[in-house]
Amino acid sequence: MKKFLVAVMILLTVAGVAHAEQKKSAWSPELRIGLASGVDKVTLKVSAPCILLDAKSGKRIDKIPAGKDFVVDCAKLKVDAVEIRPKEIRLQDLITTVDGKKYFGGVRLNKVKKSLTVINLVPTEEYLRGVVSKEMSPSFPLEALKAQTVAARSFAMKNRRRHEAEGFDLCATTHCQVYDGFCEFESIERAVDETRGKILMFGGKIADANFHTDSGGMTENVGDVWGTAVPYLVAVREVVKLGEPWTVKVPVKDFSSRFGDGFGKLKSVKLSTLTIGKEAVDRSSSGRVKSAQIVGTKKTVKLTGNDLRRKFSLPSTLFDMKLDGGEVVFTGYGHGHGVGMSQVGAKSYAQDGWSYEKILAHYYHGAQLKKSY
Ligand SMILES: [Zn+2]
Repeated sequence: MKKFLVAVMILLTVAGVAHAEQKKSAWSPELRIGLASGVDKVTLKVSAPCILLDAKSGKRIDKIPAGKDFVVDCAKLKVDAVEIRPKEIRLQDLITTVDGKKYFGGVRLNKVKKSLTVINLVPTEEYLRGVVSKEMSPSFPLEALKAQTVAARSFAMKNRRRHEAEGFDLCATTHCQVYDGFCEFESIERAVDETRGKILMFGGKIADANFHTDSGGMTENVGDVWGTAVPYLVAVREVVKLGEPWTVKVPVKDFSSRFGDGFGKLKSVKLSTLTIGKEAVDRSSSGRVKSAQIVGTKKTVKLTGNDLRRKFSLPSTLFDMKLDGGEVVFTGYGHGHGVGMSQVGAKSYAQDGWSYEKILAHYYHGAQLKKSY
């Protein structure tokens, strides 16, 4: 009996080690993330021995020892592109420091017009850790972090090769998704691991899992924001409690000057009163501004909600606009375009005990959750 128990314990230990090993080094598709361009020199440091390769021929150029600064100078580089990849371990287990900042994976350097484009070669799952940590606070409930991870993974897989002309897949800014590289938060690691490979699909294609900060009470039909309707990106009501409204005040003189000399001075603004979830001629079904008339002493201008949002740096298009004495006062709710998942809403639903699957089903109507690897 004792022998049997020992044998079981050994087996369990081996299984445990094997699981830990597997979890640590599981494969996921490799992404090329553009970090910087127009760089003369890069200082790199790797966590394990690496090889510097000619990216075209695959030939070894040099060995890179672990833990020491290694400088690549564009002026001295004899080939068009090089890659730094681990010699003995897997790419996902390597950490590369690029000019003082840590990243999972290796690096590729492309020579472009006598300077370097710096690209992080990183497996998708490790990339997601550096994205989710920038999109949500690691202190958010786990199910909200998981919903965010699935949205970010779907975006990355759908938009892969978006920057192909520049030699990489995605950039590290808001243009694609903000990516911060190495991340050590346990909650985020768990959110990524527990949704491994899962993406949203619709009609056999990867869904556009758009997300934003705060819907302000109701999300928006994508067609009312970017012009083309998508079945799973439709306005949904939020049951979460409304936050305090935001206010932006613009002096009439500054407001008028934004419309050019032919506009004159602002006389009045024409926009119906906001009721969240109530459609009007000038408002979408969520209540966001579709258009508003701005009447000047010389002419009247018709602007879309998006135009106004851009022109006056408004947090959202879910607002009221009034001329009050010497100021134009915008009062509104929410933050961001309002399409897809609201991060504030996801947090609130997760606190109410919703699973990430339920959160995603609420925001991406009819989209299916599928494991892609
Ligand atoms: Zn981009």
